[in-house]
Amino acid sequence: MQVYCNPGLYSTRPDGKPEMGPAPGFVLCAQPCRPTSRGSIEIASADPAQAPLIQPNSLSTEQDRLDAIAAGRLVQRLAAAPTIARLTKSPRTPGFARMDDAALLDDYRARAATNFHPTCTCRMGNDASDSVLDARLRVHGVRRLRVVDASAFPNITSGNTNAPTIMLAMRAADLILEDAGRTPAP
Ligand SMILES: Cc1cc2nc3c(=O)[nH]c(=O)nc-3n(C[C@H](O)[C@H](O)[C@H](O)COP(=O)(O)OP(=O)(O)OC[C@H]3O[C@@H](n4cnc5c(N)ncnc54)[C@H](O)[C@@H]3O)c2cc1C
Repeated sequence: MQVYCNPGLYSTRPDGKPEMGPAPGFVLCAQPCRPTSRGSIEIASADPAQAPLIQPNSLSTEQDRLDAIAAGRLVQRLAAAPTIARLTKSPRTPGFARMDDAALLDDYRARAATNFHPTCTCRMGNDASDSVLDARLRVHGVRRLRVVDASAFPNITSGNTNAPTIMLAMRAADLILEDAGRTPAP
């Protein structure tokens, strides 16, 4: 579980963009980092300019629903801690403490958003039946084509994705040089 405390008041609009609130404040939230739900991404058209069909299937497993409830309870505990409670003049959220698990999950479904970390849509794996890339980031069954970005992760990392993407890119540079018969820089 990753906890965020953001020094600004904002909400996420239905189109996914953050919207800053008018009043001073802070946002406390928690993000389960190991979702077990699996979504899909499909080509919608032969026209490459058309957006793909993305179906995240969030909260489709019992484990993910339990994690969401645990996230809500964790935030509730943190918000009640004296050091945070004394900063809070008027909470904007419904009273988590009075919610049962079903109500907490309903609230999570209504207000939660993803955290801009899409990954694994083109993942590495040994078998072309359940992965797109081999361990050297080459597309299974296609010559001279690699994918080097966050989509290649076999699993999402337990935290933010920028540094792991850079690490993957540095490793890919070495692999490309090796396969070209050249020595990677030390
Ligand atoms: C709002 C936001 C906040 C984030 N905050 C954080 C954070 O605080 N910490 C963190 O670790 N991660 C954060 N991330 C996640 C992080 O930015 C991504 O995981 C990371 O950038 C993924 O790298 P990537 O190379 O896979 O994709 P991208 O960084 O998206 O790179 C894709 C590149 O491909 C280019 N491109 C797209 N289509 C074409 C095309 N047809 N032809 C040529 N080029 C094309 C794009 O212009 C872009 O430069 C955030 C993401 C967002 C959206």
